[in-house]
Amino acid sequence: MLQDQQYLRIPGPTPIPPSVERAMTKPMVGHRAAVTDDLQAKIRPRLRKVFGTDQDVLIVAGSGTSGLEAAAINTVRRGEEAIVIISGSFGARFEKICHAHGILVHRYETVWGEAFDPEHVRGMLKEHPDVKAVIATYCETSTGVVNPVAELAKVVREESDALVIADGVSIIGGVEAKMDEWGLDVLVTGSQKAMMLPPGLMFAAVSERAWKQIEANPERGFYLDLVQYRDSIRHNTTPFTPAISLLYGLDRALELIEKEGIAEVAARHELMRDMVRVAFKAHGVPLLTTDKAASPTVTAVKPDFDAEQFRSLISSEFGLSVASGQGELKGKIFRVGHMGYCSPADVLQMIALFELGMIRSGKQIEPGKGTAAAQQVYLQKGDQPK
Ligand SMILES: *Cc1c(COP(=O)(O)O)cnc(C)c1O
Repeated sequence: MLQDQQYLRIPGPTPIPPSVERAMTKPMVGHRAAVTDDLQAKIRPRLRKVFGTDQDVLIVAGSGTSGLEAAAINTVRRGEEAIVIISGSFGARFEKICHAHGILVHRYETVWGEAFDPEHVRGMLKEHPDVKAVIATYCETSTGVVNPVAELAKVVREESDALVIADGVSIIGGVEAKMDEWGLDVLVTGSQKAMMLPPGLMFAAVSERAWKQIEANPERGFYLDLVQYRDSIRHNTTPFTPAISLLYGLDRALELIEKEGIAEVAARHELMRDMVRVAFKAHGVPLLTTDKAASPTVTAVKPDFDAEQFRSLISSEFGLSVASGQGELKGKIFRVGHMGYCSPADVLQMIALFELGMIRSGKQIEPGKGTAAAQQVYLQKGDQPK
């Protein structure tokens, strides 16, 4: 096999654009130097656009999970109540975080692979009027489901003063997010999924009303106390040493998003979703989610052949990595990431390789049928050459 070539198509970490890689090799500078403040000043207004908010987006050195923990502990105190919606393993992680901090959880678990129903949350809020936050996963990476967070925020606002917290880790950067318009109170993401960066940064935006609840909370922790990050970013700095190299990368990644256009980035992700789905359907291979609940960034396939054997085969033969199932879906599905630095051209290559992998796994298919179906989707929806 050709060495030093790999196709990383797991739902994070994701490949890094070469110009972002290069930007991160700049010489190190001081964390309190003017250049670092200037860099953060340059990033600030542009990151707001990616979140669809007028609020500052806070940047924390940490993985995505630090965003989940920060969202929970800043808004909800020990002994207070939260509704946690679990539609897969990342929702389940949020429940564990709440338990670790003594937050009382009312859980709403969907069938894994299905989106949650905001009306069910309405009923729960009527039953539990003291709930301080409703916690949801925007894109449940373990199942490839995109959940109706805007509809959820509407229902919550109608029924209570509870905040709406959304884990957007595997989708922000791949959709046209409208945090303010949708009424989300805390929206978090990480750098290594659709943001085209290596792991190591967490981003969080907080609404006006959530800041009031956060300021009134005397126990916000220390490293993840979001008030400190908010007060610092107003001076284009951070309370602790920022991950400076990643900020250089972020500056360049934002430039790439701006040049393409946020709406175009979102359209590209939807197109890739449709191409991947139609390819498997062409071969009669079942998908875990319905078209309506399907995420633009990750697709879960529930194959009628051995998922693990298929994964190891395409990995050893082509250097193509896809992810396994998590939790109760382990061994039953595989998950294809198509987010961030990924194009329809990459998707066509990946589908052609999947077809070879399926044939090698002993599934009787007609080679090229899925690729052709994806090409048709591209021709119907793809960009016309300018
Ligand atoms: C990847 C991911 C996270 C965070 O994972 P880290 O490993 O901490 O970066 C959280 N939520 C979702 C939905 C994710 O996809």
